[in-house]
Amino acid sequence: MPYVGAIYRPPSEARSFILQATVGCSHNRCTFCSAYKDKRFQIKPLHEIARDLEDAKPYAGLIRRVFLADGDALIIPQKRLVRILEMVRGTFPNLERIGIYGNAKSVLRKSVDDLRELKDMKLGIIYIGLESGSDEVLKKVKKGSTTAHMIEAAKRIHEANITLSITVILGLGGKEMSHVHAVETGRVLSLMDPEFAAALSLMLVPPAPLCKDYEAGRFHLPDAFEMLEELALIIANMKVTRCFFSSNHASNYLPIQVWLPEGKEEILTLIQEVIARHDRNLLRPEAYRGL
Ligand code: SF4
Repeated sequence: MPYVGAIYRPPSEARSFILQATVGCSHNRCTFCSAYKDKRFQIKPLHEIARDLEDAKPYAGLIRRVFLADGDALIIPQKRLVRILEMVRGTFPNLERIGIYGNAKSVLRKSVDDLRELKDMKLGIIYIGLESGSDEVLKKVKKGSTTAHMIEAAKRIHEANITLSITVILGLGGKEMSHVHAVETGRVLSLMDPEFAAALSLMLVPPAPLCKDYEAGRFHLPDAFEMLEELALIIANMKVTRCFFSSNHASNYLPIQVWLPEGKEEILTLIQEVIARHDRNLLRPEAYRGL
């Protein structure tokens, strides 16, 4: 498959067919993100998507899930996106679900009816990076959305009956905003009420602009145990209907997975125990962390 540049996908899409529908990210300004800084954003022409789907035809019957890359493919205008989903459905006879990255802006450019139309075309899950529930942190990292936008986007996704998966980033507020970042993230996750939520731990990888702030001493990265304090605070402040929360991503120091709300007390006890022991041997070694 001739992908343009590096491809990123959620861990849960590891077994999906990855179809690159856009190149890069339409926003591409987040200061912590190094993913698409070398790519100029474009929506791929339909003939290139058709060619990629043609390449998949010999094993099309084996494909049950498709993930539309790159970052924020949901930004594709409705008519074009519907056409792409039609092409995907026409290629894979056993298709069960299509997944996509979105952000608040791309979701809010769609009406609930637009989202329902996509749902009818097998768009089953939208992945959104909330990153932080603190508007101050979001502004600092140039996320380009407010928590009010995020909450409204989540509401529309729920109304369209599409599964919502949200990621947040431990450490994103730096040491100074660590507490407020975690508490507010738990609060906003509660209001967004996703079916899935996942924590990543901030890794400063060039060319992410935040690296320069870190090197210049303007940004102070919380250490591993401070990130675990944030993880515990987020979970403690989450009041959700039913959510599978995980920190299995390779960037994390402590992989956990838990169904909330029922597993809350047990997982908080475990995290607090690890924090209290303060033993680095209990955590993922720094060298094994990755994005
Ligand atoms: S974090 Fe997401 S929205 Fe921000 S630049 Fe990276 S891909 Fe784009």
